[in-house]
Amino acid sequence: MRKQIAAANWKMNLTLQQGEQLLDDILSKHYQFTSHQQVVFAVPSPYLAAAQAKVKGVQHVFIAAQNCYNKKSGAYTGEVSVEMLTSLGIECVVLGHSERREYFAESNKFLADKVDIALEYRITPIFCCGEPLSIREAGTQNEYVAKQLEESLFHLDEASILKVVIAYEPIWAIGTGKTATSAQAQEIQAYLREVIASKYGQHVADSISILYGGSVKASNAKEIFSQPDVDGGLVGGASLIATEFEAIINALKQ
Ligand code: PEP
Repeated sequence: MRKQIAAANWKMNLTLQQGEQLLDDILSKHYQFTSHQQVVFAVPSPYLAAAQAKVKGVQHVFIAAQNCYNKKSGAYTGEVSVEMLTSLGIECVVLGHSERREYFAESNKFLADKVDIALEYRITPIFCCGEPLSIREAGTQNEYVAKQLEESLFHLDEASILKVVIAYEPIWAIGTGKTATSAQAQEIQAYLREVIASKYGQHVADSISILYGGSVKASNAKEIFSQPDVDGGLVGGASLIATEFEAIINALKQ
């Protein structure tokens, strides 16, 4: 079975003390993880070391960075390199979140470089893709999202793309309280798997986890995650509330 992942994206929220408390609350609960289930917390950069220390030795739980730069090191004030992440023991990084694309003008090409450097340092990219409302209304979301994959991921060889996790996040559903229906999520995620299959073969497409993101919460997670091509979720707002995220973890496919 593919990895089933509940990934929290804290964005630019919480103080260190609040974040540590949230982790303590969520990690104090008992989960019956199956071998293919994982929980990821994408925390703000200044909290990476503290969060990493909290999950040390905890099976199935990982800390992720919310971003990294596409250069190894150098005069890039304010940026975070993958080598820095590796030195902290961080194994995942969220790349191409729609907020990064929109507010920081991250292009598909720039993201391709970030994917490459993350993989070079054996860090799993959680690669975000998804269409704005205007594209959904025009009915061209499949082509739009396929292009994001093609331009940022399809230069990878088979062994490399197998290390990527994809998060499909329709922008109109992020932080809006407006969730895609489980049928809408399934339809486009099945399509993305077909696109991957036509480039790399069915065995590769069947192995890559595709998460859904966009107003996932305790009350809708089970229904969304039950879709055959949805392998868990990338969760913003609801990941800041311990009871909500605990329920989301428990909604992962067994
Ligand atoms: C996100 O930040 O990726 C996200 C999906 O946010 P929210 O769950 O708040 O819509």
